[in-house]
Amino acid sequence: MPLSKLPIPNPNNFKFEVKQSPIEGQGLFAASIIPARRKLGELTGELITLREARKRTRGAADHIFIVEFGDNWALDSTRSDNYFKFMNHSCTPNAFMRLSRGRVEFYALRRILPGEELTCDYGETHHDGKLECRCRSAGCRKYL
Ligand SMILES: [Zn+2]
Repeated sequence: MPLSKLPIPNPNNFKFEVKQSPIEGQGLFAASIIPARRKLGELTGELITLREARKRTRGAADHIFIVEFGDNWALDSTRSDNYFKFMNHSCTPNAFMRLSRGRVEFYALRRILPGEELTCDYGETHHDGKLECRCRSAGCRKYL
């Protein structure tokens, strides 16, 4: 199966929508009510070594979707159709990303209503705190 056609895990069958975001580029939005703490789904892509991830990040022009694990592996979803890669960063997010054994899972931090943009805290990024954050939340740390 080509990478772009991998099934997208969405165990609770929540509805999502990808559209223009006020934060940055395309964003992921809830299209159904999501109760607090429920699993939204998982990111899919290509499992690569951290070394390969760093190489791809260096050569990347614009949009790259790589999540690094602490154990020498990373998940590159750049060429995947998975809509979770469109989740933007917010310093006051409504979802969080859980990394475990090569998997990137997303959960709701609170009840989310249809039309709300889904966000998570990216933590450390390859921008090393030099990219200005545009999340506009009250608790914004200003840089990513
Ligand atoms: Zn922010």
